[in-house]
Amino acid sequence: MEYEAVIGLETHVQLKTKSKMWCGCANAFGAEPNTNVCPVCLGLPGVLPVPNEEALRLTVLTGYLLNCEIPRFAKFDRKSYFYPDMPKNYQITQYDKPSTANGYVEFEFSGTGVSPVQSGAGIPSENRRDAHSTIARVRITRAHLEEDVGKSFHFDRNSGVDFNRAGVPLMEIVSEPDITSADMAYEYLNALKEILVQGGVSDCDMEKGMVRCDVNVSVRPVGTKELGAKIEIKNMNSFSGVRRALEYEIPRQIEVLKSGGTLVQSTRRWDEVTGITEEMRTKEHAHDYRYFPDPDLMPLAPGEEWLAEVKLRVVELPLARKQRFMRDYQLPASDAETFKSDLPLGNYFEGIAQQAKNPKAVANWVINNLRAKVAEANERRTGVAPVSLQEDHAEKSDTGATPVLHVTLTDLKFKPAALLELVSLVENKTINSSAAQQVFSEMFDTGKSPAAIVQEKGLAQVSDTGAIERFCDEVIAAHPGPANDFKSGKTAALNFLKGQVMKLSKGKANPALVGEILERKLRN
Ligand code: ADP
Ligand code: MG
Ligand code: ZN
Repeated sequence: MEYEAVIGLETHVQLKTKSKMWCGCANAFGAEPNTNVCPVCLGLPGVLPVPNEEALRLTVLTGYLLNCEIPRFAKFDRKSYFYPDMPKNYQITQYDKPSTANGYVEFEFSGTGVSPVQSGAGIPSENRRDAHSTIARVRITRAHLEEDVGKSFHFDRNSGVDFNRAGVPLMEIVSEPDITSADMAYEYLNALKEILVQGGVSDCDMEKGMVRCDVNVSVRPVGTKELGAKIEIKNMNSFSGVRRALEYEIPRQIEVLKSGGTLVQSTRRWDEVTGITEEMRTKEHAHDYRYFPDPDLMPLAPGEEWLAEVKLRVVELPLARKQRFMRDYQLPASDAETFKSDLPLGNYFEGIAQQAKNPKAVANWVINNLRAKVAEANERRTGVAPVSLQEDHAEKSDTGATPVLHVTLTDLKFKPAALLELVSLVENKTINSSAAQQVFSEMFDTGKSPAAIVQEKGLAQVSDTGAIERFCDEVIAAHPGPANDFKSGKTAALNFLKGQVMKLSKGKANPALVGEILERKLRN
C-alpha cells in the first residue's frame, strides 16, 4: 500500500512592536536578563493588562496579507498551565474567537501531491517554463494573537529564567493540513516569512528566535480521505530543522503502519544532533488548558474606520510582485525572483524600466552590475579608505570615530536615466559591451553621463570598415601561422586573430564587423 503525508503547521511569530503586549516594557532582544520587566509581565498579583494596539493592528494586517476574514468580534482567553517561565500560570491567547480566520497563502512549489492553482496569465510562455512554475495554496485556519513566555536557562548546578521575552506579542498562524511533503513545508514557511517581513509584521529573525513552529504530521493510504493519528513535533526553531524532522518522521510513521503497527495521537521532540524524533507524551497525557475568557480584557470589536486604516498598510504580496515583473517587463523568472526578494533593488529597476524599450537590458545592468557595485562599495566603507559616496549620509559608527558610509540606491551619484542612456549606447552600437562596462564603472564612481564618458575616454566603437580593414590586414600579415591554420580548416584560429584586431583597435572595434571582415579576407 502507498502512503501519503498530511501536514499542518502552527507558526509562532513575534510581532514588530516597540513595547510588549500588555505593558510598556521594551520588546527588545538581547538585553541583560530581567531588565525589560515590570509587575505586569512578571505576572504579579493585582496588575491589569492593557492591550498593545499596534499588536492588534499587525495581527489584522496579517489577516489581510493572508487573505483571511476579519471577524467583527474577537476576544482573549486564558490558557492555564504551569511552567517556570510563565509566572501567571496562564497564557493570554485567543481560543475560539480569533482576530482573523479562513485565509490562504500561495507560493511557488513544484512537487508531487500539490494541486496547482492556475495563474501566470500574460507571462510569456518561454518565461513561464521555469523550475518553479506551479503555484501551491495552503489554507490558513486562523492567525491569532497571544503572548510569549520567558526563557529558562539551565546551568551546571542551577537554573534561571529570563523574563525579558515574557509578554512579547506573539502571533500564531495555524494552517489547514494542506501540506504534503517536507519540501512543501519548507517552501510554505519561507513564503510566509517573506510576506510577514515585507508586510512589516515581523522581522522574522530566526537567530533571535522570532519564528518558532509546531509541526503536525500524519500519514494515510493514498486515495483515502480520513486523517491519520496526528503527531505533533513541538518547538522547531529553524525551517531546515522542520524539513529534516519531517524527512525523518514521515518514513518512520509509514514504516510503523507497513509493519502492522498502529500510531496514536502524540507529541514528539526533534533532536537536532541525532536527527531523530522521540515521543514525549501521548493523548492520554494531553494538557487540559481550561480555557476561559480573560475577565481583565474587553472583547475586541474592530470598527470600519480602524480596519480601513490597517488596510492601507497592506503591501503587494511577493508572489504577485514576481508575476507582475514577469508580465509587465517580460523578465525571466530568475530576474523577477531577485526583484521580489530585494525590494529596494526591484523598486529602483521599476523606476527606470517603465521608460525602457528593453527592460531586460536594464534588469541585467541593475542585477549584474549595480547590485555588485553597491555591495562592493559597502564592503569598502568598513575598510581603511571608505569611498565617499554620500558624505551627508555618513553616520557615526559604534566607536564614534570613523564615519560609516552606507551606500544605498537612493543616493547613487548617477541619475537612473543614465542607465537608459547606457543601454541605448550599446543597442545603437556606439559602444561595445566591454566599453560599456568601463562606462558603467565610471558613471558609478563619478556620476558623469555615459555620453560624456564615451567622449572623454574615446570609447566609441570603431565601425568604420576602412579602419577595421587596415587592422585586419596588419594582423593577418603579422600572424601567418594562425591565418594559414584558418585557411586549412581550423576555424578556431579566427578567435585568436579577432583578439589581435581588437587589441590593435584598443578594444574599440565593432567585434561583429571584425569577425566578418577577417573571414572574408581569409577565405579569398
Ligand atoms: P489541536 O486542537 O490539538 O491544536 P488542531 O485541530 O487545532 O489541533 O490542529 C492543529 C494543527 O494540526 C493544524 O495546523 C492542523 O492543520 C493540523 N492537523 C490537525 N489534524 C491533523 C492530522 N491528522 N494530520 C496532520 N495535521 C493535522
Ligand atoms: Mg494546537
Ligand atoms: Zn512589563
